[in-house]
Amino acid sequence: MAIIGKTPSPAPSCPSSAAYATSQKIHPRGVKGTFRSLKWWASVVLLAYWHLAPFIRWDRGPGAPSQAILADMAGRRAYFFFIEIWPQEIYYLTGMLFIAAISLFLMTSLAGRIWCGFLCWQTVYTDLFVAVERLVIGERNQRLAFDRAPMSPAKLGKKALVNLIWAGIAAACGIGFTLYFGDAFETLTEIFTGEASPATYGAIAVVGGMCFLLAGYAREQVCIYMCPYARFQSAMFDEHSLIISYEAWRGEARAPAPANRDFSDRGHCVDCLACVQACPTGIDIRNGNHLACIGCGLCIDACNQVMDRFGLPRGLVSYDSAANLAARGENRQTGFRILRPRTLVYGGILAVVSSVMLFRLTTRPDVDVNILHERAPLFVQMSDGSIRNGYVYKVLNMKAEDRTFTLNLSGLEGATIDVVGGESGATSAEMQVSRDSVGSFRLYVTAPAAKVASKSMPVTFVLSAPGREVRTETLFAGPEK
Ligand code: SF4
Ligand code: SF4
Repeated sequence: MAIIGKTPSPAPSCPSSAAYATSQKIHPRGVKGTFRSLKWWASVVLLAYWHLAPFIRWDRGPGAPSQAILADMAGRRAYFFFIEIWPQEIYYLTGMLFIAAISLFLMTSLAGRIWCGFLCWQTVYTDLFVAVERLVIGERNQRLAFDRAPMSPAKLGKKALVNLIWAGIAAACGIGFTLYFGDAFETLTEIFTGEASPATYGAIAVVGGMCFLLAGYAREQVCIYMCPYARFQSAMFDEHSLIISYEAWRGEARAPAPANRDFSDRGHCVDCLACVQACPTGIDIRNGNHLACIGCGLCIDACNQVMDRFGLPRGLVSYDSAANLAARGENRQTGFRILRPRTLVYGGILAVVSSVMLFRLTTRPDVDVNILHERAPLFVQMSDGSIRNGYVYKVLNMKAEDRTFTLNLSGLEGATIDVVGGESGATSAEMQVSRDSVGSFRLYVTAPAAKVASKSMPVTFVLSAPGREVRTETLFAGPEK
């Protein structure tokens, strides 16, 4: 298998002894082909999702937000269609991030860097920004000549126009981000009427500014030097993972195209550099697999165009596994193995974690309880000798309806419950909690001294509502016996 993880070759103009090479702007050549189309389609779908998803509505009943995907910071809730995550349920977010990470590992071990080449935001926006340059300045050669040309009013004007369009796209990206944090229709109106909060404008500036700098100016430097994923992804590859490779056995010995188009006693590579010029990270895939290769497949499209021109079979640069590459070179049968130890491990972990998450979500309780035992003092001995403990009892009503709960105590004979501001002296208490909110109650439990057997007795609060019961264990403190 070819080596993955080499550092990028120095730019041709740099002396090989230089320890530091200034990066040179890469102007990828436009190509047509399957991978280019796939990349555009992926971008269209992702950008459409990014900008339109906040406008999807989801009916949660009166008074509840009707936005399907929403991170409601003020209300301290996150919504994703039928799923509603409370701050106490942050473990769902952890689970989702874990699923996303394992999915990425599985995707990489099966199909190589398709995340980097097709789905990553850096790739999507860089593609868009390069398309703007292409539209305003021209194709690769014109952009190279434009860079070399001395500054003039025409050059300044074109540069300004490119930056202006980039700024517009970046601002749209930033605005899209803010729409996930409030009602999308209202937020959009507020942004354009100047009534949005400083935090909203700040978020647009930060996210939009990052988009502008990373996709407009940093580009492939992000993939090569900043992104941590590129560093460890080689650990997910094996010889059956799909990668972009140059079929050296077929391409070498390379040489300029023969005038008579006779390739019978030479390699198929005509050394035209079309693959290098199409590459958004500026590498030569003929030198072997490379850390900087994001797996976008544009070099394949470029080379296929060249192969078509000379009537040669396509696939001199191919998207295939190292095992197939070697097999083809030796005229052995090729095939694609999906079930391998690493894909089985990733798939197994993914199935288990997803099942647990799904089970938890579908059987998620619609009420939860938090209890805090008062510490100062731990207990009070009343004038009649009885012992009193104080608690802060919180009820999380996660249902879209107002509810009345009944609270009882078990494990302490003769105990009464007094809710501050409510009933007192009864063996049970009623608690009303509005829909989709947290009810916080201060309460005292009083028990006859004779029934308090130790300085720390386990007791159980039992909260009931129709069809639901939540039992919570805590301690009741008393004097040393
Ligand atoms: S070598 Fe090919 S697949 Fe890799 S980044 Fe360059 S164009 Fe994309
Ligand atoms: S595009 Fe194909 S033929 Fe041209 S240099 Fe690259 S590999 Fe060789």
